[in-house]
Amino acid sequence: MSDFLDRPNALFAARPEPLRVQRRFLALLFLTRADCGRSQTSDAGRIRRIPMTRLILLLALLTSTACATLGEGDPARDLHFDSIVVDGHSDTTPRFARSDWDFAERHDDTDGDMDLPRIREGGLDVQFWSVYTGKLAAPGDGLRIALERIDAVHEMARRNPEDVVVAYSVAELREAVDDGRFVSLMGIEGGHIIEENLAALRLFHRLGVRYLTLTHSFNTTWADSSGTTSIPEPTHDGLTDFGRDVVLEMNRLGMLVDISHVSDATFFDAVETSRAPVIASHSSVRAVADHTRNMSDEMLRALAANGGVVMINFYPAYIDEETTRATTAWFKEHGPTLMERRKALAEDPQRLAEERAAFFEANPVPVCDLDVLLDHFDHAIEIAGPDHVGIGADWDGVISMPAGMEDVTRLPDLTAGLLARGHSRKTVRKVLGENVLRTLEEAERVAAEIASESAAAP
Ligand SMILES: [Zn+2]
Repeated sequence: MSDFLDRPNALFAARPEPLRVQRRFLALLFLTRADCGRSQTSDAGRIRRIPMTRLILLLALLTSTACATLGEGDPARDLHFDSIVVDGHSDTTPRFARSDWDFAERHDDTDGDMDLPRIREGGLDVQFWSVYTGKLAAPGDGLRIALERIDAVHEMARRNPEDVVVAYSVAELREAVDDGRFVSLMGIEGGHIIEENLAALRLFHRLGVRYLTLTHSFNTTWADSSGTTSIPEPTHDGLTDFGRDVVLEMNRLGMLVDISHVSDATFFDAVETSRAPVIASHSSVRAVADHTRNMSDEMLRALAANGGVVMINFYPAYIDEETTRATTAWFKEHGPTLMERRKALAEDPQRLAEERAAFFEANPVPVCDLDVLLDHFDHAIEIAGPDHVGIGADWDGVISMPAGMEDVTRLPDLTAGLLARGHSRKTVRKVLGENVLRTLEEAERVAAEIASESAAAP
């Protein structure tokens, strides 16, 4: 339970509905907008290659008052679907292995945050899937579970060959996006998962893993964590020598070093050690919400100097202090009941789902507004600069999303919000994806440089 603010979905089979009436209303609004889109193009991802579509959209805009403010002719929507949109962190991964859940089918927004139809509707082009497991019960568990999760991602792609591809480089990624395909990347969340084994790290890279989060919410044997609900006692004052070896091996491989979840000392050690830019795959900023999972201004400046990117986390309990308090109180009050019902109804998922729906309707999970999320983007862009900010929503890894960002279909509203805050189209395009693609390209370049250095060595 010490981890529940970051992994609350361990309590549930699916995301509960925090504000049922409001969400339905907002979903209806979005459907209006999305329906406008679908009537004009069958695949939003291909808009950029079909200029005629623009003309059709313009005509549709002129003839449809329903779509006049929200439809495809909207400049924010155009920018969104014309950019490569990358998200740094999703915990949908375990669902890929479930026989009762199909990535290719559309699900209600009470049933998780994303699936392929909703990803298309939200204009998301690239997702880093989180390969995660908590503290290991026995030696070997980290490697076994990670392999199962990685396999599940590849199997999901195999089942959807027309739509999904696992990319191994930025060049492959860009080609796939140009072909209108959704790109799957992977990141391992928690250095404990490699079980102190650099061979495992290398093999994970060969299987397509492109970042490793150095810790989850607890210290590893080689790196200190930031914790989530409380800060663990530091045991290494950052990275140990082996921890630095892990970072250097990642540089050699071309794998991004992810500093979300690490302690401040680990962050500064990682930045100092790494030859390539580091990323925070799903972290926000402390100046807006003083939470241990967020980054201080000093860290944002160091990240920018390193060439890295902070990918802003959407979780209301991280990004809004009042919501943090309300969510903690909510879990204190309801967590034990939910755990008990989940255990009691383990054999009856249908009844559990019904009970859960009724429970969340009666006990809404606290959320904040989209404006708060935009405050985090504003501050990160101001302090780190427009080249060092990205998106790391934490889809399906947290219990709630801000009002107005209920699931991945709402992503175009983030683009609209950033433009409305006065950020240039150039900046927004970078934040949507180009910044993190630059770090991945840079990691590839550093790996090639290291390879040529060792080839030249006597
Ligand atoms: Zn996380």
